[in-house]
Amino acid sequence: MIFPGNAVEHFSAPLFVAWQLTNRCTGRCPACCEESGPDKGWADELTAGEAVDVAQRLADAGIPYVAFGGGDPMQVPHVWDVLRTLSGRGVSLKIETDGRVLDDAAADALAELRIDNIQISIDGASAATHARMRPGSASFDQACAAVRRLRARDLPTEVVYVPTRLNLHEAAATYDLAAELGASAFVTGPLMRLGRAAEAWSALAPEPAEWDAAAQALRTRAAAHDAAAPRLNIYPWDIEAEIQQRLESPQAMILIVPNGRVKLLNALPFAPGDLRTQSLEDAWHAYQRAWRSQTVADFIARCRDNPELLQHANETWPVPEVETA
Ligand code: SF4
Repeated sequence: MIFPGNAVEHFSAPLFVAWQLTNRCTGRCPACCEESGPDKGWADELTAGEAVDVAQRLADAGIPYVAFGGGDPMQVPHVWDVLRTLSGRGVSLKIETDGRVLDDAAADALAELRIDNIQISIDGASAATHARMRPGSASFDQACAAVRRLRARDLPTEVVYVPTRLNLHEAAATYDLAAELGASAFVTGPLMRLGRAAEAWSALAPEPAEWDAAAQALRTRAAAHDAAAPRLNIYPWDIEAEIQQRLESPQAMILIVPNGRVKLLNALPFAPGDLRTQSLEDAWHAYQRAWRSQTVADFIARCRDNPELLQHANETWPVPEVETA
């Protein structure tokens, strides 16, 4: 049972779980915040049996909401067992995918589940720009078709757009495309300095003023559409501000990475819990303690002066204060 309060310590279990079932996908996207790819699956990812067991434990704990990211969760062979286990126990689901494998049969199967929303990445208004941003990932046509299929089944479907120097000129036109596809929302925000995007930061990141202008153009374009147009959701913070905010007020959420380790946040390399070896309760307590540790506070403080430290985001470091507690 979950007892809500004001601080993360007041919750007996997470309210929200983000789960990366795999780090594998077909893409080699230069702005990927996870450094995922065809050869990037982790050697020790949870097996089908272990993943279903974790799903059952999340449902047993009364967790109401699980969001799947990746890699591409929909390309994991046991994803349907995991989704059905959770949905059958009343857990709402969010899925982030490139749409590559969402054919009619998959869309029909998703329509049977308790879906809160599905996010499809479309990183430009033209096939050429999308392909430049997302080499190896779902094609522009595949991504657009996935949005249409999901909306035809009345599934809440959001278009996610990552702004870089490669595609910023098509930001407002990509919003128009999302509207044409019938998307429920258009989700964007400043480029995150994580993963491959961090490696290629100087080549990819728009200047802050360029991003501000694109965001304003998006607001103007969205306002020009009618009420049925996609909701415009622009995330307000860059990743440095996000981790500072989380340190001051940690959320009652955990991130499960592909090998079952429990991380604080995708932007931070700390993984204080392990659902392969610990109960959910013990992993949750480790998560709570880690947020209050000096080690995590010091790392976040150092990131302010040296954002290149965020290149470690996808690693899984222990937190000494939790190990010795
Ligand atoms: S952005 Fe998505 S499709 Fe592209 S490399 Fe990352 S996880 Fe794969």
